[in-house]
This record gives sequence, structure tokens and C-alpha cells, in this order.
Amino acid sequence: VRWDAVVVGAGPAGASFATRLARAGFAVCLVDRARFPRDKACGEFLSPGATPLLDELGVTGAIDAAGARRLDRVRIVADGRPPLELTFPAGDAPAWGYALSRRCLDAILVDAAREAGARVVEETRVGGIRRDAEGRVTGVVGRDPGDEPVALAARLVVGAGGRNDPVARALGLQRRDARRRYDLLAHWTRDSTWPLGPVAPPSGCELHLGTTGYVAAAPVEGGARNLNCVVSQAELRAEPSPDEVYERTLAARPGLGRWTSDARRESGVTASDVTPLLARRATADGALLLGDAALFLDPFTGQGVYLALRSAALAAPVAASALAATTANRPFVDRASLSDYETARRAEFRAKRRVSRAVQTILYRPALARRVLDALDRDLALRDALAAATADVAPAERVWRAGYLARLVGRLAA
Ligand SMILES: Cc1cc2nc3c(=O)[nH]c(=O)nc-3n(C[C@H](O)[C@H](O)[C@H](O)COP(=O)(O)OP(=O)(O)OC[C@H]3O[C@@H](n4cnc5c(N)ncnc54)[C@H](O)[C@@H]3O)c2cc1C
Repeated sequence: VRWDAVVVGAGPAGASFATRLARAGFAVCLVDRARFPRDKACGEFLSPGATPLLDELGVTGAIDAAGARRLDRVRIVADGRPPLELTFPAGDAPAWGYALSRRCLDAILVDAAREAGARVVEETRVGGIRRDAEGRVTGVVGRDPGDEPVALAARLVVGAGGRNDPVARALGLQRRDARRRYDLLAHWTRDSTWPLGPVAPPSGCELHLGTTGYVAAAPVEGGARNLNCVVSQAELRAEPSPDEVYERTLAARPGLGRWTSDARRESGVTASDVTPLLARRATADGALLLGDAALFLDPFTGQGVYLALRSAALAAPVAASALAATTANRPFVDRASLSDYETARRAEFRAKRRVSRAVQTILYRPALARRVLDALDRDLALRDALAAATADVAPAERVWRAGYLARLVGRLAA
């Protein structure tokens, strides 16, 4: 059997792409090494721009029913100044984003793909791709749950396996930043037998800046809290275990007490590589890349789930037209027929990448970060534009343009 599309990876990018393509009438096979529900290291706050995309997929009812929180602000906490509150402005999208565990969210998205008619194959690890004599990608190979070899043939192979996507790797397309960063993450739950903490439970998400990294905190369903910190490779190596680095990093930020004083750590600390990466291109003859496989930004401004869902929304109609144009003589999708996807994602994500890089530069220079926060505090227009761009409800060009940057520099100099 040859599928119209084999999608490797059933995270938000792969599952939402599979849903869209299956709804358009194509035969789609969605393969993942995991069995859902499964955990995935993530700060678990989705920027507001993700909400309409989830709505298009028809999953917001299930997300609400799972107890997702709706957050409308981010509080940025830095030593030596009051917290800066970025309230999401109402644009075309709702002015709030969901916070929900990936265990729940991803399972909901996989169910939607299955309901749309995609065949979901779990516990099957893809190890590589197959190519024809001309180098076109014609399928994938892997191992089934019994460790038996499997081969899946397709007109189009979609790499949506995240940062270590086997399709992107086989095509040699990914480039990683030299400066390695790691994220240490754990969930915290409120113990109902404990007395209430000194402060009301938090309602937005928070970013606590430090000298070398930051801590992100978000409330998720069921009263649980997600606290994760980004640290350098040197910091990670300075202690015998990630747990100790995590505890020390949290303890150094007293403002986090309102998240932890009435809660206990539920799980061990998960360490993930969060070094930014970019694919030179996201298309090849017979293949395309989605989500983290093609672009991973620092989680601080990353909005990675939004980018994953959005890349799938951009790619699905292009893939559908390319597949519809295949013939018995030319049964594969060539790279040229996917060029509209390449162009659209470059145009849309270029400014986001630049904003993310600029924010990182500021983030790891505490004195500069404080001055930028002061400038944003004094200028509502600057602050609102930044909130809209990071919420993904306005194009990142709103802050990545001469006028905005000149005004910010003027405020810094004032
Ligand atoms: C620590 C951390 C914190 C983050 N915080 C946030 C946040 O708060 N908000 C946000 O929006 N984003 C955040 N992100 C980014 C976000 O997690 C990703 O951008 C998002 O998960 C990308 O979705 P995806 O579908 O491309 O890939 P993934 O979600 O990684 O899904 C990939 C899937 O592919 C499967 N897979 C991988 N390899 C294979 C293989 N060989 N064979 C078969 N299946 C395979 C995996 O099992 C997985 O299910 C964070 C990321 C990290 C690491």
C-alpha cells in the first residue's frame, strides 16, 4: 500500500497536519514511537495565537472539558524592579492562551486526527527514509512495537518528529546554534491537606529572569503548576544532577515562593536540550518538515506549539494541491510543487526568529534586561505591540521594524 502521506510524529504539528489532510480526503498514516497519552517536556502555555488554530481543528471543546486554564497575561519578574505585566491585547484572536498539560493536549489532537480518518500507528519508531534512484523520498522505515522492521511507502513523507526528527536528520537539513541551552522541568501539585499559602494562587504565567537564565511558571489543569528553568551547559555540569541545579535555580528566585510554598514537586526533573535550531529549508522532493523539525526557538518567546500548529496550517493546503497534481507516471510530490509552503513559512517566521534572537541577547544581560523592562513600563504603545507579537495575534514585524526599534532605543537612552 502506498499512502498519500506518511506523517512521522504525532505532536501538535504532525497530528494537526494529519487532521487537515485527512479531512481533505487524502489517505494519511500518522506514526509515532509513543503511545498516547504521553508526556512531553514543555512549559505548557500556548500563546493566544494558537487558540483559533485549535478552534479550526474542532478541539477547543475537549480542551476546555479537560480543565485547561485560560491565561491573559505574562508577568516578567527581574531583580531590583517591580514586575512588568504584559496583558494580551484583543485582536482577531482571543486575548488569552490555553495552559494545559501536553499529556492531555497531544492526546486530544491525535484523537482528532483519528476521527478525521487518519490511520494512527503508535509505538512505531521511524529510523530512516527510503529514496528512489533520483533521490526523491518515497517512504520511511522503522520498527514496530514487537521490534519487527516496518516500511511505509508514501507520495509525501512529512517530518514532524520534533527536534530530533528522523526525516530532517536523514536529509541533513538542520543547523543548531553554537550556544547550548538546557531546560529543567517539573510539575508541582497543591496538596489539599496543606494550609493555603500566604498569597493567592497565581493566575497568569510568569517569567523570572536571572543572571544566566530564567524560570517560567504556568498553572495547568487540576491545580498543577509547571515550573521550568533554562540554564547553560556550564550550569548543568556544575552540579551532580539536574535535580540539584533545578532546586538551586528555583531557590535563588524568592518571587517563586507563591508557586511552590503550598505545593510539592510531583515528578523528577526532566532535562531537555532547548538550543535553537533551524532547517536550511523545509521541503525536499517527496518530503516536507513541520514544527520543531524545521524551527525551534528559545522557549522564552518560542510559542513552539503555535509555530507547530501554524506550520501545519500553512503546509496542508499546499500538500493537498501537490498531491492532487500527482499522476500514475509522476506519483511523487516534487519540491517545486511545495514551494508555496516554503515561501509562506519563511515570510511568516523570519521576523519571529529575529525577535526571539534579540530577546535572548537582552535576556542574558541582566542590566540591559532591567533597562528594557523600565522602557516598556514607561511606554504603553511599545508594551502593547510586544504583547501582541509575542502572543502571536499580530505579525512579529510589528516589533521588528525600524519605527519600533528606534522608539525603544530612544526610551533606553532617556
Ligand atoms: C522544555 C521546553 C519548554 C517549552 N515550553 C513551551 C511553551 O511553554 N509553550 C510552547 O508553545 N512551546 C513550548 N516549547 C516548544 C514546544 O514543546 C514545541 O515547539 C512543540 O512540541 C513542537 O511540536 P512538534 O509537533 O513539532 O514536535 P513534538 O511535540 O516534539 O512532537 C514530536 C513527536 O514525534 C515523535 N517522534 C520523534 N521521533 C520519532 C521517531 N523516530 N519515530 C516516530 N516518532 C517519533 C515523538 O514521540 C513526538 O510525539 C517548549 C519546549 C521545551 C523543550
